[in-house]
Formats: sequence, structure tokens, C-alpha cells
Amino acid sequence: MKLVSKGSKLYSILFNKCPKCHIGSFWDSNNPIKNMFFSTENTCQTCENCSLSYELEIGFWYGSMYVSYAISVAVMVLFWTLTSFFFPLINIYNEILIIIIAILIVSPLNYHVSRLIWINFFVKYIPNDTY
Ligand SMILES: [Zn+2]
Repeated sequence: MKLVSKGSKLYSILFNKCPKCHIGSFWDSNNPIKNMFFSTENTCQTCENCSLSYELEIGFWYGSMYVSYAISVAVMVLFWTLTSFFFPLINIYNEILIIIIAILIVSPLNYHVSRLIWINFFVKYIPNDTY
């Protein structure tokens, strides 16, 4: 089985698919910027194919903040390492500024992916349509 084939968690995360059926879309749009800034109230509600309610319990999405935090730390470490490697004499404040800008640029993608990762922890793929 390929790593990013239908049925794997990575498929659902990378291709914005419902974690249960891998057919319906999780987000209305594949554009993370649109989802973060221009999403409507009914974003991330139910799957149009299997009618899975994405918010498994009240406050479910608070948990995705832990995933988002982990991604942010990974981005911070990456940019800290890159700036330290390519600009060894950089001022610490400029380095922090570069990291903050990187976090802000990545934040829409982070928001988009962290919810997908979080729901994939709890929902298992069910291949046939016998829901
Ligand atoms: Zn579905």
C-alpha cells in the first residue's frame, strides 16, 4: 500500500478529505487563506458524502491548537536553524523578527492542516459506504 493512497490518514490530511469516507471534502475550499479569513459559519460541519459531523463533541477544535502549536514550534526551529546557519552574525532581534514573519505566513496553512490532523486522530477510515 502506498503511503498517500486512499485509506491512509495522510491522504485525508493532504487532499482535504473527510477522515471517514475519504470522498467528501473536509474544508469547503482547498485554499487555506480562504478558509482562514473568508470562511462561513458552516465550514467544517458535516461531510456531504457520509454525513459525519466533524465536530465530534463541543469544543472539539480546541484540541487542534495542540497540533497547531507543534507545527509552529517546528517552523520556529526550522527558521532558527536556517537563519543561524546562513547568517551566523545576525542580530537576535532580526532573527526573532524573521521567525515571527515565517509563523504568520505559515499560519493559514497551519490552521488548515491542524484541524485535519486532529480529526484524523479520532476518526477511522471506513472504505465501503455502509454507514
Ligand atoms: Zn465523509
